Amino acid sequence: MAMAAIRDRSVVLRRHDYSETSQIVVLFTREHGKVRVIAKGIKRSTKTRCAVGIDLLEVGVAVFSGGRETSSGLASLTEWKQTLGLGGLRERIGRIHAGQYAVDVTAGLTEDWDPHESIFGALVELLTRLVDATDVITPLYFFQRALLVGIGLMPELHRCVKCGKATSLTHFSSFEGGMLCKTCAPAQREKRAVTPITRRLLADNRGPGEACGGDDGGQQSDYLGPFRALNYHLAHLMGKEPALARCILSVKRK
Ligand SMILES: [Zn+2]
Repeated sequence: MAMAAIRDRSVVLRRHDYSETSQIVVLFTREHGKVRVIAKGIKRSTKTRCAVGIDLLEVGVAVFSGGRETSSGLASLTEWKQTLGLGGLRERIGRIHAGQYAVDVTAGLTEDWDPHESIFGALVELLTRLVDATDVITPLYFFQRALLVGIGLMPELHRCVKCGKATSLTHFSSFEGGMLCKTCAPAQREKRAVTPITRRLLADNRGPGEACGGDDGGQQSDYLGPFRALNYHLAHLMGKEPALARCILSVKRK
């Protein structure tokens, strides 16, 4: 019985060569979540140079079949059409790093065939914003939030997770899943100090559009502190530092 082909919008999270002519590609699809596909005969050829391959961070429409029921979990990719030109993304290394960070945490914290349309939307929005971004931290921070909300692991940022108090919040604990007040913080070993300005921004529920309203195109993002706090949380959830977090943070420290 022929398996029905699935057509779905996708972002390329990961890719690696499988053989001379094949790639294994991890897609984040809009309606089916993370799907691993084998793409046969589409590897970029150095001989012809115009051969079509698939690149990291591309956004397009994929057609694939199988995978869900097989032991390997690999679907077969039969078509790939890039639908969003993100040329500016590759003009600056900082933008590429931000994109790679986003696809790394998405791949690390979502399950195969587990759809998260809100995360897909946030990922495409992030990549679109990065095309002409000077400050990559701000859009990346809002993506961190969208990812955490999407997977149901958004920490409590408004009150102490231990006693419920909304004042004197001094630390963040990934294990406890939120803020700690100055009374409760000493008893918790795993924690990181959070400055008042970072705490205020973390507790702000506005979306990226409203929050960036007064953007002066400055090099230094206000959201560096909040980004670091959520990066700390994501690293705990993943059990490792997200890819390129250090690169992104070291550039901003200059
Ligand atoms: Zn407390």
